[in-house]
Amino acid sequence: LAVEGVRALSPYQPGKPIDELARELGLDPSGIVKLASNENPLGPSTLALEAAHAALAELCRYPDGNGFALKAKLADRLKLESAQITLGNGSNDILEVIARCFADHTSEIVFSQYAFAVYPLVAQAIGARGISVPARDWGHDLDAMAAAVTERTSIVFIANPNNPTGTVHSGEAIEAFLDRVPERVLVVLDEAYCEYLEDGSQDDSLAWLSRYPNLIITRTFSKAWGLAALRVGYSLSSPEIADILNRVRQPFNVDSIALAAATAVLGDQAYLDRSRQVNSAGLKQLSEGFEALGLGYIPSAGNFIAVEIGGNAGDIYQALLRKGVIVRPVAGYGMPGHLRVSVGLPEENARLLTALGEVLAETG
Ligand code: PMP
Repeated sequence: LAVEGVRALSPYQPGKPIDELARELGLDPSGIVKLASNENPLGPSTLALEAAHAALAELCRYPDGNGFALKAKLADRLKLESAQITLGNGSNDILEVIARCFADHTSEIVFSQYAFAVYPLVAQAIGARGISVPARDWGHDLDAMAAAVTERTSIVFIANPNNPTGTVHSGEAIEAFLDRVPERVLVVLDEAYCEYLEDGSQDDSLAWLSRYPNLIITRTFSKAWGLAALRVGYSLSSPEIADILNRVRQPFNVDSIALAAATAVLGDQAYLDRSRQVNSAGLKQLSEGFEALGLGYIPSAGNFIAVEIGGNAGDIYQALLRKGVIVRPVAGYGMPGHLRVSVGLPEENARLLTALGEVLAETG
């Protein structure tokens, strides 16, 4: 009964919860290291936990469907208007709402090869034609993407930094891209990992919103802010675009506990700083560890890193699992020779590197 695009969908494959994997592997959950879903290894911010707990007292009430307090705090932090912000049940929700608002079965939606897996899925779900543009050096080939825009193109998705490659484009490169794309084409700049950028450029894109009315920036509380379970993301755009997104999103798409925790965590700058420090040190630890094992990797600006294993990456993934270390195969992204490793705490990174060394030695 389902429409054609939906019938042909294969679902997004999330990582399995630790308990479920532990059961499958016959291992004790406490001995498992999960570096598979680009989660924050620090555990949640205490301020966020306290706010979430306090919000439980109002479980019988509907949440604030307009997310007033969270939007006000975000607007203040980002020096934008609340009317430019749309909240989503994770940024995934927003990506889907964007596709439903701005494209249909007659549209083309452009994204890069090796880009975040949700872009082709949302295109397919609405019957639009997904145009996957070959990557350059694992990153988006912005020239080729601009050239791929046709009369039928409704949306271009750019992930900066990109998942799973960790590649990032400079502000100049993105601006040059925005200059080349006609205003009738919506450009979605997915900045799920922007807080991890180490060159101070994380908010440079905000200034473009007033210059490019066709730009939507999406961000999330799932990564550096450490609230993946609560599902809070948001977009930044012109008020006109936000108005359209707000008409189509579900009226209560972010629950009260999530709203409370996200609002509180914005006041926990120390948590964000620590997230960044742990990530920066972890990226260094992992890269050096891979080098010591003679493995190549794609330098990453995110909280994960794609390591080059070669033809037997699937076997290495399985062997790591048996040792209780979970990473992410990325064959589904067209990268069968790589594994994606999320940055963990120093001891978790060390466990991964030790296990990887053992497994490589065992498999020759
Ligand atoms: N964009 C990118 C590039 C991502 O990697 C992810 C998470 N894997 C998301 C968006 C969605 O994250 P969330 O829905 O948790 O905000």
